Amino acid sequence: MSLVGEAGLRQLCQSRQIFRCSHTCLKGLLGQVRSSDRHRIVTAQALQMVTAPSPEAPGQREAAAKKRVVFVVGGPGSGKGTQCDLISRDFSVPFFSAGELIRSLIASGCAEGKQLQDIILQGHIIPSEVTVGLLQKAMAETSSDTVLIDGFPRNTENRTVWQSQVGYDCEMVLLFDCPEEVMLQRLKHRRDGRADDNEDTIRKRVQNFKSQMAPVLDYYQSIGKVTTINTDRPVEDIYSELNSIWRQRFVPTSP
Ligand code: UDP
Ligand code: MG
Repeated sequence: MSLVGEAGLRQLCQSRQIFRCSHTCLKGLLGQVRSSDRHRIVTAQALQMVTAPSPEAPGQREAAAKKRVVFVVGGPGSGKGTQCDLISRDFSVPFFSAGELIRSLIASGCAEGKQLQDIILQGHIIPSEVTVGLLQKAMAETSSDTVLIDGFPRNTENRTVWQSQVGYDCEMVLLFDCPEEVMLQRLKHRRDGRADDNEDTIRKRVQNFKSQMAPVLDYYQSIGKVTTINTDRPVEDIYSELNSIWRQRFVPTSP
């Protein structure tokens, strides 16, 4: 058994946005659980915020309906964000980056931000319920019937929590295949100011991608959902192939 420290508790309670229970109540709650579970309780509280129903808006029925979801996966620096931007621009498809949504949640000053930031800096994956909650909320705000999701799932737990929380699976997985050395070189020169773009964290992210994504990719390969693209090429060359894949798959041919 391990209790959260006073300072940590005060910090958590300060965010009234998320924690509506009193200090004592929260302390009692945290005191009853092991430290590994405590992390889950904190993130479960955050979930209430990220999955809060959106206000009534036009197109809400379409927004809630089942969508054609395309997961774009690949190691860090494999070009996911760059290519998703281009598809999104040319085909008017909304794209949600799981990593960006998590960074925005942290930047919003939420109570569990410090814990989430620590997980990211260790190159680990944050609890699936939080990421899936963020993605669901983002999807609920668009009436588009097709969406691109960049950088999700990252492991089997992500995939199964998506399945149970969202209720349906993706339509296609686009796998960006790039040699490790090329990804490392790209990240070395990336200047996005991301705290996790340091040598140590990058190495762990690449390692985790290789080990944790293998079973996810095996699963999607076994049901024929994976399309692999070689992304060790100039941006325009990759995009030319991706554009044609997208057209074939998602743009109806005129009669
Ligand atoms: N992350 C996560 N779950 C996700 C997506 C991202 O936990 O579904 C975390 C993880 O720690 C990852 C970091 O956010 O290393 C950055 O993710 P992003 O996709 O932005 O990085 P990229 O792989 O594109 O460099
Ligand atoms: Mg990215």
